[in-house]
Amino acid sequence: MDFRDTEEEAAWRAEVRAFVEAEAPEEYRVFHRQAQDSYGLGDVTYQRWRTTVARRGLLAAHWPKEYGGAGLSVMQQFVMKEELALACVPHPGGRGVEMVGPTIILHGTDTQKAELLPPILRGEHIYAQGFSEPGAGSDLAAVQLRAVRQGDDYVLNGQKIWTSNATTCNWMFLLARTDQEAPKHRGISYFVTPIDVPGLTVRSIPDMAGGDELCETFFDDVRVPALYRIGEENRGWYVAMTTLDFERSGIAGAVGVHLTLLDLIKELRQAGRLRGNQNSLVDLYVATSVARQMAYHVADQQNRGGVPNYEASMVKLFSSELGRRVATSSVTMLGMAGALLTGSGGREIGGGRIARYYSGSIPSTIAGGTSEVQRGIIATRGLGLPRG
Ligand SMILES: Cc1cc2nc3c(=O)[nH]c(=O)nc-3n(C[C@H](O)[C@H](O)[C@H](O)COP(=O)(O)OP(=O)(O)OC[C@H]3O[C@@H](n4cnc5c(N)ncnc54)[C@H](O)[C@@H]3O)c2cc1C
Repeated sequence: MDFRDTEEEAAWRAEVRAFVEAEAPEEYRVFHRQAQDSYGLGDVTYQRWRTTVARRGLLAAHWPKEYGGAGLSVMQQFVMKEELALACVPHPGGRGVEMVGPTIILHGTDTQKAELLPPILRGEHIYAQGFSEPGAGSDLAAVQLRAVRQGDDYVLNGQKIWTSNATTCNWMFLLARTDQEAPKHRGISYFVTPIDVPGLTVRSIPDMAGGDELCETFFDDVRVPALYRIGEENRGWYVAMTTLDFERSGIAGAVGVHLTLLDLIKELRQAGRLRGNQNSLVDLYVATSVARQMAYHVADQQNRGGVPNYEASMVKLFSSELGRRVATSSVTMLGMAGALLTGSGGREIGGGRIARYYSGSIPSTIAGGTSEVQRGIIATRGLGLPRG
């Protein structure tokens, strides 16, 4: 593949860069913010940036124009994500724009599209993802949350877990079992629901970095109107799988780990600790460049009409594992101060940023499919090896 921009891509890159330079709030461009998941309602800066991007028409970059999207090509989306990541600002779409919206566009009825899409674009419906359960994570098709049809509603009973930001979101998309007898992939339906409804309880789970974004959600006779079932009953698995069908090169993650490394080099220089670490830093620099090239490869494949499969798993695996290597090296090379979080009497480095990289690098090899699961996909679909 040719890694250079075409003339149109270069023009688009310049346009996005100029927009970010002019409009991205300075406080949002602080590098460490990139590691944070800001999908909630509470973050004022996030909301401001979201409004700015929406006004520019770039919020729903991959939605067709008829639904209020920008209708960007795969390569335009890629360039935009890369430029935003390079400028240390996230794309503020959130799960509504990235995941639920495209699913409704593909599988929803006209009524669902009219009712559910505009509030996503206006930033009124902020979605949490209710897929995982205590007994269903990697094996997602094992979901047990039960949905039983009663008149115009379904009645839901059971539990979800690891529902990120559920305390600050006001809607949720979820998978529930609607047929207990069918083979496990064929008895699941896909629903959306407001979170503030009777019987739905959300509880935060504190994490080791002091965050409380992860949540458990409990369903006790929660009524969800049948109107909010997306796609056919018992076809929810297949509905959920199509949600991923857009630009998925992982470029933002690859750029993020590259910038983290540059940040480490800067801190090491300031601390007078570059000597002795050069060889490891060069290895990591090469690896972060490889991660970016892999992301380019996936985008190029999609741009030619291909559907990345094990290739997307390669990028996810390589970038997230590399993130862990860079974070572990940061803490080791910077010595004990590197491991201190904010509030350590000023002895922490960069306001505790390095320690946050470290604690943030661990869940990234679990969320969105664990490294082991990615390796399984690469082994079977990529290398044609037999299942273990
Ligand atoms: C930060 C974070 C945010 C998350 N946010 C959400 C969210 O918003 N919504 C949501 O629904 N979920 C969310 N999750 C859950 C996430 O999708 C699951 O944690 C993940 O899919 C793994 O499932 P599990 O935790 O049940 O682990 P398990 O599936 O129980 O896995 C346990 C261990 O067994 C290994 N393993 C499992 N199956 C295989 C296999 N076939 N081959 C080899 N090894 C295997 C795993 O790699 C892992 O090491 C989040 C997780 C994290 C860490």
